[in-house]
Amino acid sequence: MGQPAALRCISCGKEYDPSQIDYTCPTCGPRRGTLEVLYDYDRLKKQLSRTTFAESGLESMWRYLPLLPVVQPEFIQPLRVGWTPAYRFPVLAERLGLKELFVKDDGQNPTASYKDRASSIVVIKAQEREREVVTCASTGNAASSLAGFSASTSLRTMIFVPKRAPEAKVAQLLIYGAQVFLVDGSYDDAYDLAAQAADAFGWYNRSAAVNPYLVEGKKTGALELAEQTNWNPPDAVFVGVGDGSVISGLCKGFDELARLGLIDKVPRVYGVQAEGSSPIEAAFRAYDGASDVPIHDIAAYTLADSICVGKPRDIVKAVTYVHANGGGFVTVSDEEILTALRDLAQQTGVFAEPAGAAALAGLRKAVEKHNMSFDSAAIVVSGNGLKDIASARKAVRAQAVSIRPLLEEVKRYL
Ligand SMILES: *Cc1c(COP(=O)(O)O)cnc(C)c1O
Ligand SMILES: [Zn+2]
Repeated sequence: MGQPAALRCISCGKEYDPSQIDYTCPTCGPRRGTLEVLYDYDRLKKQLSRTTFAESGLESMWRYLPLLPVVQPEFIQPLRVGWTPAYRFPVLAERLGLKELFVKDDGQNPTASYKDRASSIVVIKAQEREREVVTCASTGNAASSLAGFSASTSLRTMIFVPKRAPEAKVAQLLIYGAQVFLVDGSYDDAYDLAAQAADAFGWYNRSAAVNPYLVEGKKTGALELAEQTNWNPPDAVFVGVGDGSVISGLCKGFDELARLGLIDKVPRVYGVQAEGSSPIEAAFRAYDGASDVPIHDIAAYTLADSICVGKPRDIVKAVTYVHANGGGFVTVSDEEILTALRDLAQQTGVFAEPAGAAALAGLRKAVEKHNMSFDSAAIVVSGNGLKDIASARKAVRAQAVSIRPLLEEVKRYL
């Protein structure tokens, strides 16, 4: 197990003992003072090889336990999380001018989104800390994931979501037994309320960025992509970005693999933001690599609810990591997202929610509009399309036809 060696502030670099701090750097505050989890990489380098993970026999992200911050593995839940397929689709690859395209289908996680990778870790950390209640503000997926992974434990789950959250996500929360607060406001309002409640009532907070262990779960997508491509990961990886934690996790995962000598080439990681919700892309453009990451919050709107974030909480990490990684950001319109959602479904059979389809829209934009070229690329489908049926219906013009049960009527439509 990867007993973390230290927690380091992304802004001031100060290191903390993991037993002494739960959330963020007291000096830099919750926004700029997000913490990164550090391990004893010299020791890990001696212990790990490319075969270590397969030797665990585990077909879940727990095959990477040595690289995860779990102290008491007895708290690992039975739900199978991670080790999702990285499909190859040669025809779609060719259309995009790529030799190879990988579709990492994280809609196949237990609660149908990438967030399960992080929630499964937080549910362990809460129990290691002997907490009784976990809380989370969420656009929907982080919360339903937390509720799902708490379900088999004695933890109680208190959830804050914006009242605009898609129906299916709210239904997931309720069926898993969470106490749900539908906040009359944006996700950003729900986030602040959850933080206040966690403070006031002593609940363990899983909201994005504030909890340093989330990014550790989120890095496992990178570890899997590397291993699933026989340690020769694609040139570029595209992923939808809201708070910036998933992309931070992907960057950290690839960086750690390189540091441990397990991969020679680090993929460029590209974040995809919706045009109406792109404060991280804007910060990245303005960042010079030396001074503080510029932060300008906005009032966000996109139909891709999971990445509708005007006040991104992991912006400092996301911008810093992507800058170091050599990747970048692109923006896409809601229309481009819907087109990608439809094309992905019709050309691969993978059904994404809008934030998941944004990854394909971004790859397309990079190749077709920004003239970037890659031999190989991966898109991370971060959430399942069944979570947001209304958007799927918007993405297709085709209508189902109503008929009487007569062959004649079928013929009329042939
Ligand atoms: C949360 C989420 C994202 C974005 O992750 P961030 O860490 O907020 O950037 C993308 N897609 C889906 C489906 C999500 O639930
Ligand atoms: Zn600090």
